Amino acid sequence: MTWKTEGIVLRVRNLGEADRIVTLYTKERGKLSTVARGARRIRNRLLSPTQVFTHGRYLIFPGKGLHNLAQAEIVNSGQPIRDDLEKLAYASYITELLDALTVEEDPIERVFPLLAATLALLEVGRLGLATRAFELRLMRELGYEPELYHCLSCREELQTRVFFSEQGGVLCENCVVHDSASMLLTNGTWELMKKLLEWDLSRITVLHPAPSNEQELRRVMRRYLDYRLEYPLKSLEFLETLQALN
Ligand SMILES: [Zn+2]
Repeated sequence: MTWKTEGIVLRVRNLGEADRIVTLYTKERGKLSTVARGARRIRNRLLSPTQVFTHGRYLIFPGKGLHNLAQAEIVNSGQPIRDDLEKLAYASYITELLDALTVEEDPIERVFPLLAATLALLEVGRLGLATRAFELRLMRELGYEPELYHCLSCREELQTRVFFSEQGGVLCENCVVHDSASMLLTNGTWELMKKLLEWDLSRITVLHPAPSNEQELRRVMRRYLDYRLEYPLKSLEFLETLQALN
């Protein structure tokens, strides 16, 4: 029995002399680790379709441990991302984040299209905005949807003076005194967060937020995500070094 599945390469590791372990995020089966035999040989048919960020159609032979990736055809090569250091840094971060927060063969329906759409936005250079939208929406798909309208603690509907708790939502100024890790969310950042979560993803390219709102959202999201992550992400150090240079 073989499976055909559409997937995006999240991670690639070398195995032995010429093989690759390829971790895909697939449409039908979620995250899947496979072995691509001979994929590092120069004329091998699997060489290109098993590069990181490639979107392809894959033929898989299920195995007891790792599955075997038998055939592949490219839907989108991901080359513009691999060719650009900054795009590469952002894409490495979102794929590592997805990898860290998901387990093998536990498909979550809307994650695959989210990943494909986010990589497409990175290709056209909307780096920070696409990454924040991905973070917010991934948290929603994983069941940690941030509460953006009512205070997490007292359930009061919030209008102004909003704080964001790493537990995943807004707090009012009365309740914030019991949550020392929460951060002030200025109105512009709060509105940006709602749009990035609720708008159709293809529309977010019309947004041009102030740099201060983008930076604030980046810090808020970092704390919110770190609260759910069991280990620090390797790609984050590289990404933060690049951001500091800019
Ligand atoms: Zn409250």
